[in-house]
Amino acid sequence: MNEEIYSYYRDAGEIASSILQRGAGEIRREASYRDVVEHIEDLVAASGAGLAFPLNVSINAAAAHDTASSNEERLFRDGDVVKLDLGVHIEGYIADCATTVDLGKNDLLLDASKEALRHAILLARSGVATGDLGAAIQKEIEERGYRPIANLGGHGLDRFVIHKPPNIPNIGMAGGAVLEEGMIIAIEPFASTGSGFVSEQRKTEIYSQTISKPVRLPQARRVLEEIRPRRGLPFARRWLHEKKLDIVLPNLVKTGLLHPYPVLADIPGSLVSQHEHTLIITDDEPIVTTR
Ligand code: MN
Ligand code: MN
Repeated sequence: MNEEIYSYYRDAGEIASSILQRGAGEIRREASYRDVVEHIEDLVAASGAGLAFPLNVSINAAAAHDTASSNEERLFRDGDVVKLDLGVHIEGYIADCATTVDLGKNDLLLDASKEALRHAILLARSGVATGDLGAAIQKEIEERGYRPIANLGGHGLDRFVIHKPPNIPNIGMAGGAVLEEGMIIAIEPFASTGSGFVSEQRKTEIYSQTISKPVRLPQARRVLEEIRPRRGLPFARRWLHEKKLDIVLPNLVKTGLLHPYPVLADIPGSLVSQHEHTLIITDDEPIVTTR
């Protein structure tokens, strides 16, 4: 890989990991959900890097894709299991990382996703099949009495692209793609006390633009104008200034211009933990950019 690109990935990783740790320290009982989200996103902007996607803060059964809404009023509460998932980019080169804060007594649940990630990283190098990483993740999580979330997984990353092959499964499977030197991948095990599957919830706060084509509605046109600098990276509904988003956004989804990221949750009452790092694959130990 070109040295300059490589340094962008490393710098993005350093910024992401330090801000993620700082954000995790702000999650406490009675803290405002909105304040934490806005503060962390502001820290990224102040660092000179960009947000690769809105900060995801998903609580308890919610595994991913929740973030502050425009009229957000939640507070963190005793017992909450809070996932923070942060994406930072420099010139489009992305670092994607996540951690979980426990406001209850769920040490073992957090250990499960953390150890699963650690073991998968130990295996990750060129020539290894992604199914073997999934098997290691599954083993660590199941040994602790939890279920890995089977329909969520890690992924490749590229410039201004947050998800591309290979898929890194959270369960063992025969074969799968083979890792190659120079690949940038995110590994993200989720451990759950629930079913081990997430489903799409009604709530959607995050979208990305998939294609561009002309639209007639002036409001829709203004929304597309406002998100153009994202270059296809996801954005939050609360970032937009346009009114009547309840009509405009579903319309843009229907016409195929926007992709919605609904909140993904395991069954009601369950708790989910997540840990994630971004790494550069080599012929030897991977370089973990977000450590
Ligand atoms: Mn992530
Ligand atoms: Mn990811």
